[in-house]
Amino acid sequence: MTKIHPTYDVAVIGGGPAGMMAAGRAAELGARVVLVEGNRRPGTKLLMTGNGRCNLTNVGHDTRGLASMFGAGGKFLLSAFTAFGVEATIAFFEARGGRTKTEPGGRVFPVSDRAADVLASLTRYMSQGGVTVMAGARVTGLDADGGRITRARLSDGGTVEANNFIVCTGGRSFPRTGSDGAGHGWLSALGHTVTALTPALAPLKVSEAWVRELEGASLAGAVLRAYHGGKLRGESAGEVVFTRNGISGPAALNMSGAAGELAGRGAVSLAIDLMPDTDEAELDARLQDLFREKQNKTAINCVTGLLTPKLAPVFLKLAGIVEDEQINRINRAQRLALARLLKGLPFTVTGVGGFDRAMVTRGGVSLKEVDGKTMRSKLVENLYLAGEVLDLDGPSGGYNLQMCWSTGYVAGDNSSPARKHSSRFLDFARNDKQG
Ligand SMILES: Cc1cc2nc3c(=O)[nH]c(=O)nc-3n(C[C@H](O)[C@H](O)[C@H](O)COP(=O)(O)OP(=O)(O)OC[C@H]3O[C@@H](n4cnc5c(N)ncnc54)[C@H](O)[C@@H]3O)c2cc1C
Repeated sequence: MTKIHPTYDVAVIGGGPAGMMAAGRAAELGARVVLVEGNRRPGTKLLMTGNGRCNLTNVGHDTRGLASMFGAGGKFLLSAFTAFGVEATIAFFEARGGRTKTEPGGRVFPVSDRAADVLASLTRYMSQGGVTVMAGARVTGLDADGGRITRARLSDGGTVEANNFIVCTGGRSFPRTGSDGAGHGWLSALGHTVTALTPALAPLKVSEAWVRELEGASLAGAVLRAYHGGKLRGESAGEVVFTRNGISGPAALNMSGAAGELAGRGAVSLAIDLMPDTDEAELDARLQDLFREKQNKTAINCVTGLLTPKLAPVFLKLAGIVEDEQINRINRAQRLALARLLKGLPFTVTGVGGFDRAMVTRGGVSLKEVDGKTMRSKLVENLYLAGEVLDLDGPSGGYNLQMCWSTGYVAGDNSSPARKHSSRFLDFARNDKQG
């Protein structure tokens, strides 16, 4: 019988950040690569990142610190972050014309503030390597024989054959971008364990009706604390943005994974500390000074120096202070109530936004079944995995994209036949030296 030689060395399924990086890297090493993407073009979600500005990585850590941002998944990521870390990522994009800048919190963005420029760099990388982009082609399953994938089946009845397959289909967040979790179905059919998939980096819904009056307001440099069963269960620093029915912004998003898990086991309350560097007694002393200085002003005039015009009326109402009251008529109890609110504006969590609003997915293919050095499956010989399809999720700040660049690069690198030859060559060289 004649042996059929697949057209491609590597088939990458899913054209998100991880898939494009994987395809580009494998092609750079000389592999014949096809990128199969369900949408009309790759990178739909990438264009939405960072509100269209793309927070592509974070420079606030060394390799270990970066890995630790992924909790239990950190150990798994150490190799990938060492092989292709933050510096390599920045150098990669800058070499392709996309200069970068760093914003507070170590967040790195393209100077142009355009996610489209990040996508353009990846598109160029793939075309330079001769990657065939098969867009508008939805994979419906993977066929395997003798522990190897033989082909990917497409929704139009076609198939894609390759020696190696890299699955980068993402999680279930923002399913309208094409990431609907379909890949997890085929991977579990191949024997992989997929851990529970839940929304993470999602806005929090709260029960307090007055939050509506704050919609659109934001607090920079706040600390958000979560309490459950009367105990402090988590703390998250950064910006908080008020929405119609809750809170969002980096501090709230980073709390959402834990808050969602805790909410399943009873009421979760939150407190926003607007003045984390000042304790309550010190804050009260500052309020006393302010009230003395502005004694002939109304309460609302007095506090608008301290709070924005949107926040001030809500804080006064909650502290039991009438806006037009002259400040020297405010009693001690009212002043202390205001200080307490500034140190802990209280909310009760009623829910966490679903996959349609969550930036990432918690859960995915079990890391125990993937080799972190190569991103190769330990169960299927010619399968590699990269990006959010894996059981990895990090906080807001460019970490999730960094994880995609790193795992994508390593998967592309190791799935390429050229890489196998070069590492074998290195092994020979090493043996020669030893001999
Ligand atoms: C609104 C928003 C803003 C974000 N902002 C940031 C940010 O600024 N910084 C940051 O670090 N992270 C950010 N993230 C998270 C980040 O975008 C994701 O972690 C990242 O896109 C995951 O990349 P991926 O390649 O693993 O998967 P995805 O980007 O989800 O891509 C998967 C691709 O696979 C394709 N696909 C899926 N199933 C099939 C199939 N059956 N056949 C063919 N193709 C298929 C999909 O169409 C999709 O193109 C944001 C997320 C969202 C939703």
